[in-house]
Amino acid sequence: MVVQKFGGTSVADPDAVRRLIEIARAPRARDGRGPVVVVSALSGVTDTLLAIAAEAGAARADQALAHVGRLRERHLAMARALAGDGALAALTSQIDAQFDELTAVVCALAVLREVSLRTLDVIAAMGELLSSRIVAAALVHAGLPAEWVDARRAIVTNDDHTRAAPLMRETTAALRALVVPLVADGRVPVLGGFIGATAEGHTTTLGRGGSDYSGAIVGAGIDAGEIQIWTDVDGMLTADPRIIPQPRLVPRLSFAEAAELAYFGAKVLHPSTIHPAVERNIPVRILNSRKPGGAGTLITAEPNPDGHELTAMAAKRDLTVVDITSSRMLMAYGFLRRVFEVFERFRTAVDVVTTSEVSVSVTVDDRRHLDSIVEALSEFAEVSIEGEMALLCAVGDRLRAEPEIAARVVRVLEEMPLRMISQAASRRNITVIMRQTDLPHAMHRLHEEFFG
Ligand code: ASP
Ligand code: MG
Repeated sequence: MVVQKFGGTSVADPDAVRRLIEIARAPRARDGRGPVVVVSALSGVTDTLLAIAAEAGAARADQALAHVGRLRERHLAMARALAGDGALAALTSQIDAQFDELTAVVCALAVLREVSLRTLDVIAAMGELLSSRIVAAALVHAGLPAEWVDARRAIVTNDDHTRAAPLMRETTAALRALVVPLVADGRVPVLGGFIGATAEGHTTTLGRGGSDYSGAIVGAGIDAGEIQIWTDVDGMLTADPRIIPQPRLVPRLSFAEAAELAYFGAKVLHPSTIHPAVERNIPVRILNSRKPGGAGTLITAEPNPDGHELTAMAAKRDLTVVDITSSRMLMAYGFLRRVFEVFERFRTAVDVVTTSEVSVSVTVDDRRHLDSIVEALSEFAEVSIEGEMALLCAVGDRLRAEPEIAARVVRVLEEMPLRMISQAASRRNITVIMRQTDLPHAMHRLHEEFFG
């Protein structure tokens, strides 16, 4: 069974939903059942809902209600374009009820002048509740036996509002009770992504971009054979297209490679997103809903047997390097603990770490507490910082067994001053830190060498 998750641009307007319908027919024609469909809010809607919440909380009710009115029109127009005549009245009244509720919440917030995270979730969740109802109706109108499933009953989460974590045992039980029987009965369940609810029934959201996560949670919960992430790009690319004009599509990569790439700036998938799929060993495929015939990128647990020397590159800009040298010349034991304790105290994550006998260098991208960090470190070490640095990370499972590849990466970059070089335990990536101004040239050189 296949889970198909569609992002905001893949449900943005009636034409996008018509493409979705044809995409949903394909696994059904092949497997004779399914798929399970998970959808994002229509593109831009979550942003607008959050803006509405902020305006309401700031007592700008008129502005918020004007936004609500425009959103209502957009959803009603989608419904008219996509639902069958027989179903339109019911769908319209569901949409109206949702917007009446939103209007009531906005008016209440404008009086209270404060928005709790719990309320924010109620508002943010409306985008997916609406889009999933519309898509379900559109599928039915197109002859597919779709059935809307309230994702708040299927995804059970903790109460960490706006970034809730799924409780997998409860969620799996709920999915088995609500979704699996529908599939067995030949239907096409349709759920909103991004949203869930606590065991007590309070609406939650999984964090921005969370509907990929929902796709993976649903796939894991129903033991899907494949999870498809339908989006507006062809798949994972070998490099950032803003820097390399013609990157290649990565046909296949391992979960471990995907996680490293996602962490270091490849925008397509967030690492936590695929976690439920990794645990259950379910392949994830990234596909372009505008070009449904494309091969996309397949992400699997095992390394790609025909993988290239490098799989892809990722970059991250706007980093600051912090150099910390032990004042006592040699690193006494406990030195590293003291260093990292400072970063922990100021809740600042470090990305890359390199050490020598007398010094440690780390990169951070969150500069908010940098002054305090430097001050605290200076109590026991010499500290210097350098901004406008960039990270370039070359990823590939073959790096683990073939040290020559890492050596070539460094050799290709030999004209550029490299500030740090790191290859961590996974040995699946080699990461270099350089001046930001050198990044485009470095990426071109590497891409030419390994993917040219
Ligand atoms: N609609 C949500 C967001 O924009 C979730 C998603 O699209 O993945 O963050
Ligand atoms: Mg998205």
